[in-house]
Amino acid sequence: TEALNSGLEKTKQGFFSKLTKAVAGRSTIDAEVLDNLEEILVTSDVGVATTLKIIERIEDRVAKDKYLSTNELQQLLREEIQLLLAENNSNDFRNFEYGNHKPYVIMVVGVNGVGKTTTIGKLAHKLKQENLKVVLGAADTFRAAAVDQIKLWGERVGVRVVAQAMGSDPASVAFDTLQSAVANQEDVVIIDTAGRLHNKVGLMNELGKIKKVMERVVPGAPHEILLVLDGSTGQNAFEQCKQFTEATDVNALAITKLDGTAKGGVVIGISDQFKIPVKYIGVGEKINDLQLFDKKEFVNSLFS
Ligand code: GDP
Repeated sequence: TEALNSGLEKTKQGFFSKLTKAVAGRSTIDAEVLDNLEEILVTSDVGVATTLKIIERIEDRVAKDKYLSTNELQQLLREEIQLLLAENNSNDFRNFEYGNHKPYVIMVVGVNGVGKTTTIGKLAHKLKQENLKVVLGAADTFRAAAVDQIKLWGERVGVRVVAQAMGSDPASVAFDTLQSAVANQEDVVIIDTAGRLHNKVGLMNELGKIKKVMERVVPGAPHEILLVLDGSTGQNAFEQCKQFTEATDVNALAITKLDGTAKGGVVIGISDQFKIPVKYIGVGEKINDLQLFDKKEFVNSLFS
């Protein structure tokens, strides 16, 4: 929780301390307080649609309960934000999901630069710490650097990496990785994919092909299609989420770089708009700077 608190420092300062100013000198939640709140939420990248939803809900409650004091605004906001955040069922890195499937297969998608490789490395580290046997598949075969980076993380963490020559078929890398994971009785497979958003059909076909191969080796795989988004890019993250969810069945989100940004509100907006749980958040560049997202903790840390 301490890491989460410090990881979200900028969001807290940029967002929730403005809240205090918004209500300064006012005792009841009136139209002006709500206008100020709306501006704070929008400028913190919560997104317009989600902001309006929050404001409307608070307006309703103020109307119903008449003189709602500004002292209660924080509590109202906490409750409404928690309601909007999709539930993440995993509360530790050795939870039932990873244990129920062997191997548990994670396909990682997202555009280049968002922190995909770093997230894969950090996640492998967390899982290994839980004594799970992890293998990484370097299926982003379009960039030599991507394969090298995954290998580097593999060495650093101490997990096996399956790679082929650059330019080889990503689906073939996925096939090799899964097959060897089954043979070696490994617990978790994490497959990196190319982050090219050239066009929707191209992306759909590419990811579809990798998925099909996975299903063939491990029925039910991939169990997790994890979209990595850079939390510091605000509205770009929304747009990427839209494109990837249209191209494949994303069922988990990782939002990175929340340590360097005041735009942490993006977590709230994206979770609400796409109804996909934020599963992991990145709060730094180091190996330990990945956390399982806990919505209660998240909201608490925003207001602490
Ligand atoms: P990829 O191209 O998506 O694989 O992106 P990388 O994993 O190579 O990350 C791009 C840059 O973002 C690197 O410099 C990482 O150290 C940095 N990065 C990744 N995650 C985080 C994070 O949670 N916080 C911060 N501050 N930097 C991050």
